[in-house]
Amino acid sequence: MEQDEKLTRKLKRYCYKNGIDIVGFADPGLFDRYQKYNAPEYFLEGTKTVIVIGIHLFDINLDAWTLDSKHNWQFADSVLETYCSKLGNFLLKRGYISKIISYAPGFFLKEAAALAGLGAIGKNNLLITEKFGSQVRLRALITNAPLKYGKPIFESTYCENCTKCIDACPPQAFVNGKYIKSICRPYNLAHLTKLSDNTSIWCNVCIKACPIGKS
Ligand code: SF4
Ligand code: SF4
Repeated sequence: MEQDEKLTRKLKRYCYKNGIDIVGFADPGLFDRYQKYNAPEYFLEGTKTVIVIGIHLFDINLDAWTLDSKHNWQFADSVLETYCSKLGNFLLKRGYISKIISYAPGFFLKEAAALAGLGAIGKNNLLITEKFGSQVRLRALITNAPLKYGKPIFESTYCENCTKCIDACPPQAFVNGKYIKSICRPYNLAHLTKLSDNTSIWCNVCIKACPIGKS
């Protein structure tokens, strides 16, 4: 498939100008490794590119959740949805359709980011980007625009000889190096940092412990 380098450059410029910190492009064919409902064709027939965008959580308050009987907001996710809508309009003006994809049901976003070449999955079970470490939030949209793919990253060179995130985890949620959600989640729920009655921040220890992107 011919990839439109000019449009890719324009889209990247548009992203950075509008405050998106990272953007990458993945080949939909690489998602064959997942279940069909975690792959682009399930959501948009004729998908030619998976676009993954991210923002840097430069202030941990951006990662806050608000939850009451009527609302359920994650602030960074809301910002990312708005950015994705803008990108959708950008593409539509140039004759391409797109669709915003969430996490569930949807893609494994950090894996999608790694397939787009934005970083590696680290021992902390998160995406590690060169510039921001794991302090990023991600969102994806798929499009029939033929954009230029990044180089997929399948292994983390950052993690060689490092176990800082594993050592720092309060409930020891990494067992034999493997992240165990059933240990992490209950710990998080029991130790929320409350910003107000309805707004809290989850544990961020393994992210903070990672030295990548700190400079
Ligand atoms: S979020 Fe907290 S509990 Fe979960 S793996 Fe990271 S450090 Fe451990
Ligand atoms: S703290 Fe070390 S082992 Fe953990 S994700 Fe970062 S580089 Fe990898």
